[in-house]
Amino acid sequence: MKNYIKKNIDKIRSDFPILNKLQNNKPIIYFDNAATTQKPQVVIDSLKEYYENYNANIHRGVYYLSQKATEKYEETRNIVKNFINAQFDEEIVFTKGATDSLNLLAYSLARTYLKEGDEVIISHMEHHANIVPWQELVKYYGIKLVVLPVDDNGELILSKLEDLITYKTKIISIVHISNSLGTINPIEEIIKKAHEFDIKVIVDASQSIQHTKIDVQKLDCDFLVFSGHKIYGPTGTGVLYGKKKYLKEMVPYQTGGDMILNVTLEKTIFNDIPNKFEAGTPNIEGIIGLGEAIKYFQKYSIDDIYEYEKELLNYATNKVLEIDGIKIIGTSKNKASVLSLYSDVVHPHDLGTLLDEQNICIRAGHHCTQPIMQRFGIPATARASFAFYNTIEEIEQFIEALNKSIKLFL
Ligand code: PMP
Repeated sequence: MKNYIKKNIDKIRSDFPILNKLQNNKPIIYFDNAATTQKPQVVIDSLKEYYENYNANIHRGVYYLSQKATEKYEETRNIVKNFINAQFDEEIVFTKGATDSLNLLAYSLARTYLKEGDEVIISHMEHHANIVPWQELVKYYGIKLVVLPVDDNGELILSKLEDLITYKTKIISIVHISNSLGTINPIEEIIKKAHEFDIKVIVDASQSIQHTKIDVQKLDCDFLVFSGHKIYGPTGTGVLYGKKKYLKEMVPYQTGGDMILNVTLEKTIFNDIPNKFEAGTPNIEGIIGLGEAIKYFQKYSIDDIYEYEKELLNYATNKVLEIDGIKIIGTSKNKASVLSLYSDVVHPHDLGTLLDEQNICIRAGHHCTQPIMQRFGIPATARASFAFYNTIEEIEQFIEALNKSIKLFL
């Protein structure tokens, strides 16, 4: 049967207002989806609806507006729980984004389980959000940070993992899909290996939640994080999934209002999970919008999305390989939706600017993954990243523009 996304691409595109706007009388080609995705009208409408009809703080009000806001906010928890197949609603903690979730984890895990000399393994291809918080633990808690290397194709050298594990290894925190290389990491295998040694595993699903099926029970990961804005939801929203037994044991990262059961001037009793981890007034409308985004996303089959996006990536990859003067950084066999380009003749930033003149939005830079740029001996790449609303025609225009731009420098 024909791919549903491919068959209905015009309808899908019409759901996203920005994709139908003109800039200098020409459509916008948006290929910066790894940085953030565009929002469908239903998500935009849900934000407006909240402010027009039931804006109130949650969890504390006895009146209708507050109860309605609370109900909608908690509804998203249930939507996320079902979406990633968590066992319990309370295993879903709302945060500001993946960065916030990873900071929460680093500090809470350190305070609860880690002692000086304990080791945390990350990989060479992590986003800064999964490097810097651990480096802070090195400084302040005496933790040792150990790095799993990456080969010339941008794949993890998995055979080295067991050599890096010691009796002091307590956590492995690993990205599922790399935002700068597109590599899909074999996280199932890593989780299995880690659990043989009683090591907890954090999965950074920031770049996989919108491209592949995530089932936390099947994966058996201990924690998983992602940002709402990468899955067609509002910015300033994020999710931390954690196994109930660990979240219950863990001490909170932030304290204050809404995360307590009782406070006296001498002592505070914390609330139960997930509230224990959600201090202060959250991004209420954003979380409600995230629920709408996931409901919208779930209208489609993830297999269709994966297959369609793979077709876009393969098409673009083959066309880029025909262009002299450009090479692809990240050539793993198992890749998703990210095409990182490097040229000896033109700087990625110049490439980005030249493409912008033709309304083509790509990202030029280190993509918050400087260590992997250093690994490849380059300062930056020009990155095109695709979503299920992109088309082969857009890629053809991108390739034409790329060809023209490169010729200016050859
Ligand atoms: N991890 C990965 C793999 C990412 O791609 C990103 C965003 N580029 C993050 C973490 C951080 O996400 P945010 O900035 O939304 O917190």
